[in-house]
Amino acid sequence: MDRIFYNGVIKTVDDAYPVVSAVCVKNGIIMHVGSDEEMLKFRSERTELVDLKGNFMMPGFIDSHMHMVGTYYTRMQLDLGPCRTKREVLDLLAAEADRIRREGKPGEWVMAANFNQDYWEDDKNIPNRLELDEACGDVPCYMQRCCGHTASHNTKALTIMGLMDEKEGQTEHNMKFLADGTPQGQLFEGDAGLVMDFAEVPSVEEFTECIRVETANCAKLGLVGIHSDDLNMTAPGRDVENLMAAFKFAGENGLMSCKVYEQCRIEDAEGLKAFIEKYPKGTAYGTRFVTSCIKQMGDGSLGAHSAVLRGSYANDPEAKGVRIHTDEEMNELIRIAHDGGYPAAVHCIGDGAVEQVLNAMELAQYENPKPDIRHGIVHCQIMGTDQVKRMQRNNVMAYVQPVFCRADAGIVDDCVGPELAKQSYDWRLMVDLGIHASGGSDCPVEPCDPIPNIYYAVTRDNGKGGSWYPENAVTMEEAIRMFTIEGAYAGYAEATRGSITVGKYADFVVLSQDLTKIAPQDILKTKVLMTVLEGETVYQA
Ligand SMILES: [Zn+2]
Repeated sequence: MDRIFYNGVIKTVDDAYPVVSAVCVKNGIIMHVGSDEEMLKFRSERTELVDLKGNFMMPGFIDSHMHMVGTYYTRMQLDLGPCRTKREVLDLLAAEADRIRREGKPGEWVMAANFNQDYWEDDKNIPNRLELDEACGDVPCYMQRCCGHTASHNTKALTIMGLMDEKEGQTEHNMKFLADGTPQGQLFEGDAGLVMDFAEVPSVEEFTECIRVETANCAKLGLVGIHSDDLNMTAPGRDVENLMAAFKFAGENGLMSCKVYEQCRIEDAEGLKAFIEKYPKGTAYGTRFVTSCIKQMGDGSLGAHSAVLRGSYANDPEAKGVRIHTDEEMNELIRIAHDGGYPAAVHCIGDGAVEQVLNAMELAQYENPKPDIRHGIVHCQIMGTDQVKRMQRNNVMAYVQPVFCRADAGIVDDCVGPELAKQSYDWRLMVDLGIHASGGSDCPVEPCDPIPNIYYAVTRDNGKGGSWYPENAVTMEEAIRMFTIEGAYAGYAEATRGSITVGKYADFVVLSQDLTKIAPQDILKTKVLMTVLEGETVYQA
């Protein structure tokens, strides 16, 4: 199919021809770029003309870290995100338990997600088992924090999970206890998802529907690519084969409206070796699915004080953070990925986790030098300037989420003190050092809408009419690169995606305003008018 997009203001993110007005596309590939007059010469009777009506077009957005499957399943749960009081949370849970008693399936749980007690105005303590019993009675109840690193359960839920007899000091689980020695209800880190062990494995058909729905949602937001961390997220240890089969089916049957770069999460050494054997790096299903990296977890979250710091929490000296792996385990996991030809992308929020992971990456490189492999750190939040420089020396990429400013600008200084806070989330330094920094949302932690993300990248809006360490912000030009060409680079796709360049796939987004011309406070008003993936319109407003 031939298409000519013309009469636009087209930012290419290609220095050879930064702004043009028209693009010729054939069979999904960009054939020519230039002026309307030059491009319209290429029209034939088979050409479809797309009048951009003077609108702004740029390469489609790429989100470099999110959880597509998790987003789908989170949406099916009770959303506690908008709650501003604990009372509201407990009332919603009680209403859901009532609904289940009246019309629910036998054995149905109250499944709630996305709460953030930092926003509660009446009481910032996460409800314990007894408070949840009061709300839900004997309907099993589970509520997960927005970060996914902690969850609270009522007595019935803990009973089903076999945890009511656990004793403080004797349990292998990461859980809290009440003063009387009985379980308090809260589970942390890996165990925050323990409830998933009681979940059924979604079928290939169910996962296929999830992929179809979620990639279409992404297209609506102007995304042409997402790096997504999905394996072992619904039924850990049991869902990989069904999910990979669903990606194969969806990828080969035209059901995907957005390309998925899979960040394959396999957290045990033996499982990882077997996975790499079966699905080598670059395993592709059609043009819209590829395995891109191996995802690992380094620590927890800042809000839950489970991020691992080199020093201690300024507001909680007792807190140590939670390491997901010992140094030996992390070294081995990264070595297996590295030797197997996969880059590792590791979740690190605290500088202590960053240190562990940089050590492991350096060691893997020392033992088996692969100068071109693109290891990366996901989040890169609390970091010392020394560590940012160390990332540069080791050619380690940064997967950052500028939109986290919205929630974090208010807590980082309290957690780590201003000295370290001002060295943290320092995207300015990353870009200045030439580190490949790509932008993402960590959806469902934040919505996978690139527009607010770009807004926070350039403004670092602190929510109080000011800016949070504005010297660490990037420019609009740089923010656009973070959500286009750098996202492609993170997926080894910069030769075929991420800019409007002759020979690349025609992946575009048309916006209601020219991001490069508007005042920062107007960025959030931007609307997506059209998304084009491989020359095909996958979304039209
Ligand atoms: Zn994540």
